[in-house]
Amino acid sequence: MASVLPYQFEPESDPESDNGADGANDERDVSRRLDQDVSLWCTCGNCATMPSEVENVCCREITKVVRRMSQVPIPIMCMTEHPGLEPVCLNPYSLQNIYNIYKYDYGPVRHRTEEERLRHLAYRSFVSWCWGYLGPSRRVIIPSCVVQRIRQQFPSGDYIGFRPPID
Ligand SMILES: [Zn+2]
Ligand SMILES: [Zn+2]
Repeated sequence: MASVLPYQFEPESDPESDNGADGANDERDVSRRLDQDVSLWCTCGNCATMPSEVENVCCREITKVVRRMSQVPIPIMCMTEHPGLEPVCLNPYSLQNIYNIYKYDYGPVRHRTEEERLRHLAYRSFVSWCWGYLGPSRRVIIPSCVVQRIRQQFPSGDYIGFRPPID
């Protein structure tokens, strides 16, 4: 049965610090952020107001993201400046590869457009990188600045240029 070893090929696993309570140590009150100026909760300078209340979170508020931000040779202010973001989440060949891994465990990604599939895989890859697993079932909040960056990389609508197929 293929489901016996569902995490066998995960790109990264971090069982010691992954207690299954993602975000439990990142308690924060986001209840008024939809109405607030972004500068009241964003300290990285790159977040924007998100339509859903809980998504209004800055990279510098998320423990697992801050941990990755600390693992760079030159200090950075925002996760979007991390030298690993491009190769891990924005490079379409990485996402082509991630899709093979994802598909093996979870089946095909059902999104209408290629850009939606690329964005979905970029979010999954970011979660895998910072939290240690790739699957779709456990939800964590991706910081607003990183969501903006991924949307900028894979915008909806016409795209001019070559991209490898996510097949
Ligand atoms: Zn921010
Ligand atoms: Zn940021």
